[in-house]
Amino acid sequence: MLFDTHVHLNVSHFDEDREEVLARAEQAGVKYMVVVGFDHETIPKAIEMAEQHNHIYAAVGWHPVDAIDMTAKELAWLEELSNHPKVVALGEMGLDYHWDKSPKDIQKEVFRKQIRLAKKVKLPIIIHNREATEDIVEILQEEDAKEVGGIMHCYNDSVEYVDSCLEMNFYISLGGPVTFKNANLPKEVAKYVPADRLLIETDCPFLAPHPKRGKRNEPAYVQLIAEQIAALRDISYDELSQQTTKNAKRLFQIQD
Ligand SMILES: [Zn+2]
Ligand SMILES: [Zn+2]
Repeated sequence: MLFDTHVHLNVSHFDEDREEVLARAEQAGVKYMVVVGFDHETIPKAIEMAEQHNHIYAAVGWHPVDAIDMTAKELAWLEELSNHPKVVALGEMGLDYHWDKSPKDIQKEVFRKQIRLAKKVKLPIIIHNREATEDIVEILQEEDAKEVGGIMHCYNDSVEYVDSCLEMNFYISLGGPVTFKNANLPKEVAKYVPADRLLIETDCPFLAPHPKRGKRNEPAYVQLIAEQIAALRDISYDELSQQTTKNAKRLFQIQD
């Protein structure tokens, strides 16, 4: 039984065959997933999917690439949605220095506002980080995000920062890159993270694991990620699945 902690089944890439994708996920043993909404279009769709399916949950937040589009209106909308019974986290939020649509100072401000909201509504946060680990850790510390904790989604930096994240009550989530041949950082991280802080995710439709690399990713492929991490940690696939599912349910406070 697997828990894919980060999916974007709410984007148009899945408009043609969403139900088939869900059926394949079930067949692969993926019982739970969190659909992550990040803008005006994907947030309502994430909520809709969570309402339609028992074991699908939603996270809502404003993506750092689009930080420049987040006004007080969007922040109030996120606060309202945080009361929804199937919304289990706020995010993804964070910093993305790869794209320059939103200037860094605006990204930081929008990130801080969302952390403060998460503390107000008492939900964990999902962090998107691209080439910005140092600034993210600093802001999480300054804002005392430890109070709510959360997930470093698709963690792709060195082991060096993992301890700071763990200290702030964050879980480390690994995705497709851990299966890539030359990706040493996520492989080292996969071995390093304590068993009770490890999560798995696809981030589909992006970042498909080997041997599906370059194709559209989907939740069923989280199996490939789990297999790789189990091998790296020298434990059974079952043990890895059980542990990561238990971790996700604890973090998102899912009872059944
Ligand atoms: Zn992301
Ligand atoms: Zn994402």
